[in-house]
Amino acid sequence: MATDPRHAAYLDALGVDVYVRRGLPAPGPVADDAGGPDTAGLDWNGLRERVAACTRCELHSTRTQTVFGVGSQTARWMFIGEAPGAEEDRQGEPFVGRAGQLLTSMLKALGFAREDVYIANVLKCRPPGNRNPEAGEVAQCSPYLQRQIELIGPKLIMAMGRFAAQTLLDTDATIGSLRGRLHRYRGVPLVVTYHPAYLLRSLPEKAKAWEDLCFARRTMAGL
Ligand code: SF4
Repeated sequence: MATDPRHAAYLDALGVDVYVRRGLPAPGPVADDAGGPDTAGLDWNGLRERVAACTRCELHSTRTQTVFGVGSQTARWMFIGEAPGAEEDRQGEPFVGRAGQLLTSMLKALGFAREDVYIANVLKCRPPGNRNPEAGEVAQCSPYLQRQIELIGPKLIMAMGRFAAQTLLDTDATIGSLRGRLHRYRGVPLVVTYHPAYLLRSLPEKAKAWEDLCFARRTMAGL
Protein backbone atom coordinates (compact mmCIF):
# COMPACT_ATOMS: atom_id res chain seq x y z
CA MET A 1 0.00 0.00 0.00
CA ALA A 2 1.69 3.19 -1.13
CA THR A 3 1.66 6.40 0.89
CA ASP A 4 0.90 9.39 -1.27
CA PRO A 5 3.41 12.29 -1.01
CA ARG A 6 0.89 14.74 0.52
CA HIS A 7 -0.14 12.15 3.08
CA ALA A 8 3.52 11.44 3.84
CA ALA A 9 4.17 15.18 4.38
CA TYR A 10 1.15 15.36 6.69
CA LEU A 11 2.39 12.37 8.70
CA ASP A 12 5.83 13.91 8.87
CA ALA A 13 4.36 17.12 10.26
CA LEU A 14 2.65 15.06 12.95
CA GLY A 15 5.90 13.37 13.83
CA VAL A 16 4.75 10.01 12.49
CA ASP A 17 7.56 7.76 11.30
CA VAL A 18 7.11 6.15 7.87
CA TYR A 19 9.24 3.06 7.27
CA VAL A 20 9.89 1.17 4.06
CA ARG A 21 11.68 -2.11 4.59
CA ARG A 22 15.22 -2.42 3.33
CA GLY A 23 16.02 -5.25 0.96
CA LEU A 24 12.42 -5.96 0.06
CA PRO A 25 10.58 -4.94 -3.07
CA ALA A 26 8.64 -1.70 -3.22
CA PRO A 27 5.10 -1.92 -1.89
CA GLY A 28 2.96 -4.02 -4.19
CA PRO A 29 2.77 -7.70 -5.08
CA VAL A 30 5.53 -9.68 -3.44
CA ALA A 31 7.81 -11.20 -6.07
CA ASP A 32 10.41 -13.93 -6.10
CA ASP A 33 13.24 -11.40 -6.49
CA ALA A 34 12.99 -10.80 -2.72
CA GLY A 35 14.40 -14.29 -2.30
CA GLY A 36 11.14 -15.48 -0.85
CA PRO A 37 8.07 -17.19 -2.25
CA ASP A 38 5.93 -15.53 -4.91
CA THR A 39 2.63 -14.90 -3.17
CA ALA A 40 1.19 -12.42 -5.67
CA GLY A 41 -2.44 -13.11 -6.46
CA LEU A 42 -2.85 -15.90 -3.93
CA ASP A 43 -6.22 -16.03 -2.20
CA TRP A 44 -6.67 -17.32 1.34
CA ASN A 45 -6.93 -20.97 0.34
CA GLY A 46 -3.97 -20.75 -1.99
CA LEU A 47 -1.87 -18.98 0.59
CA ARG A 48 -2.80 -21.42 3.34
CA GLU A 49 -1.92 -24.38 1.11
CA ARG A 50 1.37 -22.78 0.08
CA VAL A 51 2.35 -22.24 3.71
CA ALA A 52 1.30 -25.75 4.77
CA ALA A 53 3.55 -27.27 2.10
CA CYS A 54 6.43 -24.82 2.48
CA THR A 55 9.98 -26.11 2.71
CA ARG A 56 11.76 -22.84 1.89
CA CYS A 57 13.82 -22.77 5.07
CA GLU A 58 15.24 -25.34 7.46
CA LEU A 59 12.49 -24.83 9.99
CA HIS A 60 10.23 -27.11 7.95
CA SER A 61 12.31 -30.11 9.03
CA THR A 62 11.65 -29.63 12.76
CA ARG A 63 8.06 -28.39 12.79
CA THR A 64 5.05 -30.47 13.78
CA GLN A 65 2.92 -28.30 11.52
CA THR A 66 2.83 -24.78 10.18
CA VAL A 67 1.01 -22.10 12.17
CA PHE A 68 -0.75 -19.94 9.62
CA GLY A 69 -2.81 -17.41 11.56
CA VAL A 70 -6.28 -17.13 13.04
CA GLY A 71 -9.16 -14.68 13.19
CA SER A 72 -11.32 -12.53 10.99
CA GLN A 73 -10.25 -12.15 7.37
CA THR A 74 -11.80 -8.68 7.42
CA ALA A 75 -10.32 -7.65 10.76
CA ARG A 76 -9.59 -3.98 11.41
CA TRP A 77 -6.91 -4.89 13.96
CA MET A 78 -4.05 -7.26 13.26
CA PHE A 79 -1.78 -8.58 16.04
CA ILE A 80 1.61 -9.87 14.93
CA GLY A 81 4.12 -11.76 17.03
CA GLU A 82 7.42 -13.47 16.40
CA ALA A 83 7.11 -17.18 15.78
CA PRO A 84 5.21 -20.22 17.07
CA GLY A 85 6.28 -21.73 20.37
CA ALA A 86 5.96 -25.34 21.47
CA GLU A 87 2.23 -25.21 22.17
CA GLU A 88 1.49 -23.34 18.94
CA ASP A 89 3.52 -25.91 17.03
CA ARG A 90 1.43 -28.67 18.62
CA GLN A 91 -1.96 -27.04 18.08
CA GLY A 92 -1.33 -25.25 14.79
CA GLU A 93 -2.73 -21.98 16.15
CA PRO A 94 -0.82 -18.83 17.14
CA PHE A 95 -0.90 -17.47 20.68
CA VAL A 96 -2.26 -20.38 22.63
CA GLY A 97 -0.93 -21.41 26.04
CA ARG A 98 -0.28 -18.86 28.80
CA ALA A 99 0.91 -16.06 26.52
CA GLY A 100 -2.13 -16.63 24.33
CA GLN A 101 -4.44 -16.48 27.32
CA LEU A 102 -2.90 -13.16 28.29
CA LEU A 103 -3.39 -11.85 24.76
CA THR A 104 -7.03 -12.99 24.87
CA SER A 105 -7.47 -11.11 28.17
CA MET A 106 -5.88 -8.00 26.68
CA LEU A 107 -8.24 -8.24 23.70
CA LYS A 108 -11.22 -8.61 26.03
CA ALA A 109 -10.12 -5.50 27.89
CA LEU A 110 -10.29 -3.71 24.55
CA GLY A 111 -13.77 -5.12 23.95
CA PHE A 112 -12.71 -7.76 21.40
CA ALA A 113 -12.98 -11.51 21.12
CA ARG A 114 -10.11 -13.33 19.41
CA GLU A 115 -12.41 -13.85 16.42
CA ASP A 116 -12.76 -10.09 15.94
CA VAL A 117 -9.07 -9.54 15.13
CA TYR A 118 -6.45 -11.39 13.12
CA ILE A 119 -3.48 -12.96 14.91
CA ALA A 120 -0.35 -14.16 13.13
CA ASN A 121 3.40 -14.47 13.49
CA VAL A 122 6.27 -13.34 11.29
CA LEU A 123 7.43 -16.97 11.01
CA LYS A 124 5.01 -19.79 10.34
CA CYS A 125 7.19 -22.59 11.76
CA ARG A 126 8.65 -22.96 15.23
CA PRO A 127 12.38 -22.29 15.63
CA PRO A 128 13.82 -25.22 17.61
CA GLY A 129 14.11 -24.47 21.31
CA ASN A 130 12.36 -21.13 20.69
CA ARG A 131 15.63 -19.60 19.50
CA ASN A 132 15.52 -16.26 17.71
CA PRO A 133 14.58 -16.44 14.03
CA GLU A 134 17.45 -16.03 11.58
CA ALA A 135 17.56 -13.41 8.84
CA GLY A 136 17.33 -16.00 6.06
CA GLU A 137 14.26 -17.55 7.64
CA VAL A 138 12.59 -14.16 7.89
CA ALA A 139 13.42 -13.36 4.25
CA GLN A 140 11.85 -16.63 3.14
CA CYS A 141 8.78 -16.46 5.35
CA SER A 142 7.82 -12.80 5.56
CA PRO A 143 6.15 -12.70 2.10
CA TYR A 144 3.45 -14.95 3.56
CA LEU A 145 2.76 -12.41 6.29
CA GLN A 146 2.87 -9.60 3.74
CA ARG A 147 0.21 -11.37 1.67
CA GLN A 148 -1.92 -11.90 4.78
CA ILE A 149 -1.73 -8.18 5.48
CA GLU A 150 -2.66 -7.41 1.86
CA LEU A 151 -5.65 -9.76 1.97
CA ILE A 152 -6.94 -8.43 5.29
CA GLY A 153 -6.23 -4.75 4.73
CA PRO A 154 -6.15 -3.98 8.48
CA LYS A 155 -6.66 -0.46 9.75
CA LEU A 156 -4.02 -0.97 12.43
CA ILE A 157 -1.21 -3.42 13.16
CA MET A 158 -0.02 -4.18 16.70
CA ALA A 159 3.56 -5.45 16.54
CA MET A 160 4.09 -7.51 19.67
CA GLY A 161 7.62 -7.86 20.91
CA ARG A 162 11.06 -6.73 19.80
CA PHE A 163 11.41 -9.19 16.96
CA ALA A 164 8.08 -8.44 15.26
CA ALA A 165 8.58 -4.69 15.68
CA GLN A 166 12.16 -4.70 14.39
CA THR A 167 11.23 -6.96 11.47
CA LEU A 168 8.17 -5.03 10.36
CA LEU A 169 9.88 -1.66 10.75
CA ASP A 170 13.27 -2.88 9.53
CA THR A 171 15.12 -1.27 12.38
CA ASP A 172 17.46 -2.19 15.21
CA ALA A 173 15.83 0.33 17.55
CA THR A 174 14.88 -0.88 21.01
CA ILE A 175 11.30 -1.67 21.81
CA GLY A 176 11.39 1.05 24.46
CA SER A 177 12.18 3.67 21.84
CA LEU A 178 9.56 2.33 19.41
CA ARG A 179 6.69 2.27 21.90
CA GLY A 180 4.34 5.22 22.28
CA ARG A 181 4.73 6.43 18.70
CA LEU A 182 2.72 5.78 15.59
CA HIS A 183 4.67 4.01 12.85
CA ARG A 184 3.64 2.78 9.41
CA TYR A 185 4.12 -0.54 7.70
CA ARG A 186 3.52 -0.11 3.96
CA GLY A 187 1.06 2.66 4.76
CA VAL A 188 -0.75 0.78 7.55
CA PRO A 189 -0.59 2.46 10.99
CA LEU A 190 1.48 0.32 13.35
CA VAL A 191 1.82 0.44 17.13
CA VAL A 192 4.55 -1.41 19.04
CA THR A 193 3.99 -3.18 22.32
CA TYR A 194 5.54 -5.95 24.40
CA HIS A 195 5.07 -9.61 23.58
CA PRO A 196 2.62 -11.33 25.97
CA ALA A 197 5.27 -13.96 26.79
CA TYR A 198 7.56 -11.15 27.98
CA LEU A 199 4.75 -9.67 30.07
CA LEU A 200 4.36 -13.00 31.85
CA ARG A 201 7.99 -12.71 32.95
CA SER A 202 7.87 -8.95 33.68
CA LEU A 203 4.57 -8.21 35.35
CA PRO A 204 5.33 -4.48 35.97
CA GLU A 205 5.43 -3.98 32.20
CA LYS A 206 1.76 -4.96 31.94
CA ALA A 207 0.75 -1.40 32.73
CA LYS A 208 2.90 -0.19 29.83
CA ALA A 209 1.30 -2.73 27.50
CA TRP A 210 -2.10 -1.40 28.52
CA GLU A 211 -0.88 2.12 27.72
CA ASP A 212 0.11 0.85 24.27
CA LEU A 213 -3.33 -0.67 23.70
CA CYS A 214 -5.02 2.55 24.80
CA PHE A 215 -2.74 4.49 22.45
CA ALA A 216 -3.73 2.13 19.64
CA ARG A 217 -7.40 2.52 20.47
CA ARG A 218 -7.09 6.32 20.42
CA THR A 219 -5.27 6.05 17.10
CA MET A 220 -8.08 3.93 15.66
CA ALA A 221 -10.70 6.36 16.95
CA GLY A 222 -8.90 9.17 15.14
CA LEU A 223 -8.58 7.39 11.81
S1 SF4 B 1 9.30 -20.82 8.52
FE1 SF4 B 1 8.19 -20.01 6.75
S2 SF4 B 1 9.68 -20.12 5.05
FE2 SF4 B 1 10.42 -21.50 6.68
S3 SF4 B 1 9.56 -23.52 6.13
FE3 SF4 B 1 8.14 -22.52 7.58
S4 SF4 B 1 6.61 -21.52 6.27
FE4 SF4 B 1 8.40 -21.98 4.98
